Amino acid sequence: MARILIVGLGRLGSRTAELLQEHDLVLCDFDAVERDNLEEQPFYSEDDVGKLKVDAAAEKLRHAETVPEPFTPDLNLDDIDCIVDGTDSLESRMMLNDAAMKSGTPLVIGTGSMEKGMVFPVVGSPCWQCVVKDKVAADDCREGIIPRIADGIASKQAELTEKILNSDTVEKKLILISDTAKNISVSPNPSCDACKGKYTYLSLPFSLKSCNGKLQARLEQIDISSLEGEDLGSAKKVSVGKGTAVVHNHGLVEFSGTSLQDASSFCKELISLQRRA
Ligand SMILES: [Zn+2]
Repeated sequence: MARILIVGLGRLGSRTAELLQEHDLVLCDFDAVERDNLEEQPFYSEDDVGKLKVDAAAEKLRHAETVPEPFTPDLNLDDIDCIVDGTDSLESRMMLNDAAMKSGTPLVIGTGSMEKGMVFPVVGSPCWQCVVKDKVAADDCREGIIPRIADGIASKQAELTEKILNSDTVEKKLILISDTAKNISVSPNPSCDACKGKYTYLSLPFSLKSCNGKLQARLEQIDISSLEGEDLGSAKKVSVGKGTAVVHNHGLVEFSGTSLQDASSFCKELISLQRRA
């Protein structure tokens, strides 16, 4: 039987798991079911509140193993036939893309925001990083996806996963899901690191997320007094290399731009400045 790793068991991951339950599933999530999320995640019920999502889901599905922790590059993918993205997070998705490209395991990406969704199969190059290029493609702190669109994304992810497992040809197209479905051809991006075998997101020393179209990074505690820049009280507007960002004492870094590459190099430079200080 095919083994499918489902990373993230929120609205998208739990729905896709339901649709793929004829297969062996490996469920990866570290979150518990919260009462506030029940409406948004109809897979779970009142009885599940407080349980880990992986445990609540495994009880309802046929063949499921659980990994009650966040996805990390240490997770063994050797016996996994396909990965399904239900992560709901920019950083985890980029990390999954790198892990899939490195191991050669197919990955079906699914993401959305309000009334729009995107599904993309990563089966070698072009990959998800080629699709988003250097820009953020979806928000982590949005208000959720409307149910009709979320179900559309999950169904498409399940359909593509089945095709991959059947070794059917999968078109390497970005599927846009809204009231009108549309496919967009994607070509390998010559400047994509993952396609060149450089897996930046497997070892980021900080965490990244996207909020209202802007990037944020979370670093360890930062001593902003040692940084040069415009004083904003408990924060400083700092320019490092090509990038400018507002750096807070407690480690939050807010970028005005949306370039992943600029944000990454800013944070790496900032970390090395702190080490030298
Ligand atoms: Zn790529």
